[in-house]
Amino acid sequence: MSGGEFDIRTWLVGASYLVAATLFLLGLQRMASPATARSGIHWAGVGMLLATAATFLLPGLHNLPLIVVALVIGTVAAWISGKKVAITDMPQMVALYNGMGGGSAAAIGAVELLRFSALAQGGEVAVAGPGVVVLTLAVLGSAIGAVSLSGSIIAWAKLDGRLDKRVVFPGQQAFNLLVALAMAVLGVLAATTLQPWAIVAFFLVALLLGVLMTLPIGGADMPVVISLYNAFTGLAVSFEGYVLGNEALIIAGMMVGAAGILLTRLMAKAMNRPISGVLFGSFGGGGQAQEITGSQKPIEAGDVAAMMAYAERVVIVPGYGLAVAQAQHKIWELAQRLIDRGVKVKFAIHPVAGRMPGHMNVLLAEAGVPYDLIADMDDINPEFPTTDVSLVIGANDVVNPVAKTDPASPIYGMPILDVVESKNVVVIKRGKGTGFAGIENALFYADNTRMLYGDGAEMASALVSELKALDGGGH
Ligand code: NDP
Repeated sequence: MSGGEFDIRTWLVGASYLVAATLFLLGLQRMASPATARSGIHWAGVGMLLATAATFLLPGLHNLPLIVVALVIGTVAAWISGKKVAITDMPQMVALYNGMGGGSAAAIGAVELLRFSALAQGGEVAVAGPGVVVLTLAVLGSAIGAVSLSGSIIAWAKLDGRLDKRVVFPGQQAFNLLVALAMAVLGVLAATTLQPWAIVAFFLVALLLGVLMTLPIGGADMPVVISLYNAFTGLAVSFEGYVLGNEALIIAGMMVGAAGILLTRLMAKAMNRPISGVLFGSFGGGGQAQEITGSQKPIEAGDVAAMMAYAERVVIVPGYGLAVAQAQHKIWELAQRLIDRGVKVKFAIHPVAGRMPGHMNVLLAEAGVPYDLIADMDDINPEFPTTDVSLVIGANDVVNPVAKTDPASPIYGMPILDVVESKNVVVIKRGKGTGFAGIENALFYADNTRMLYGDGAEMASALVSELKALDGGGH
């Protein structure tokens, strides 16, 4: 796009990209708070629309009809799936869209490498060669993009329950390392020889690596992995943006990459896991998990209501089941009734409760729970021993004490909410179903725990009715 003479169209494209980049930045800034997040998404969306529209002004654009058809198909598919998706299925959708971003970057890399290859075969590359930096970035972007495409598809299949949580086999890490080395060697060959076979083999091995890297990752590590692939996709897009000489792609990719890396670091820190541990290790030392003894003890809604009504301090712990049941409004109504009676109520949020970062914060904000009643893990954990009743609603893995007590558990080492230390625990869930990690929960068998079986929203309603009755039917 850099030309000697002033060209109004090129200038307009550059100016639009600058405005779009500013909108991305402002949008990202607004996404930092739940109160402004919705408008932040709109701002960034307008930026993306502007950047896409401006690209049509670029001189020398080919295949216009194909581009328009692809845009229409993509827009319609995204619009329909975005409207239809249930909030609890969001992580799968994010994983898929992530993967497509990575795949697009890899596709740009493939087209450019094959174009350089054709030039080289025609003997032109010596004259108008792409240069070392462009070739290196094209190969790097392609590798990262292809890995995040196939890796994200595996993550999607796992989140959607279409694939086993963890697939492990002996010698897996050594095998994966070999595949990574093969990809690196083929990448160097592809860049230096520009032979079509090397380029194709390089892409196939990169796709295979994404699959192999993601297969053994399971349980509580999934959120970190999704965020990491998001960061990968951003990097891949910006590298390919450099190859194409497109500033909008470079800036948007860098922003996604930087935000993704920050989010990945934050989540890995909250999970007490180094990122290398997520990718190359797994939770737990392996071996036989300890047996959990005792029985689950059921309780009726009336008894739970009385217990909470006469408590001094109650902590409500929401999890994925709250989202499934859409119980956030009822649970807030319950909390308000308790507060009116003089009970001190707090909500405790684990960093990976639910199925996406901030899932519970979004739901509680939607129900109108004030931020000062919401505590995060580090702040609330010291308070559990002095809590009279912890009401766990639809949470499982994030309150499972085996994460601290059983080194063989797949979630060993993951920080949890120390709900088990409260004086009394009541767990609302439908039955004996396991959580995302698919393991038994020692909390449900503890002496101080009672199980209130039923759907989250129905049980929250029952508790509200019981409290009303205790209050003499008043409000
Ligand atoms: P879990 O997935 O561990 O457990 C949810 C529980 O909710 C289940 O045991 C289920 O039991 C119960 N449940 C389901 N539907 C209902 C309903 N309608 N009413 C009442 N209960 C219901 O949830 P947590 O929030 O504790 O943990 C989140 C897990 O998800 C972690 O392992 C985390 O690593 C993982 N994860 C988190 C992501 C994130 O970014 N936050 C992303 C991807 C995964 P029952 O069937 O008996 O009702």
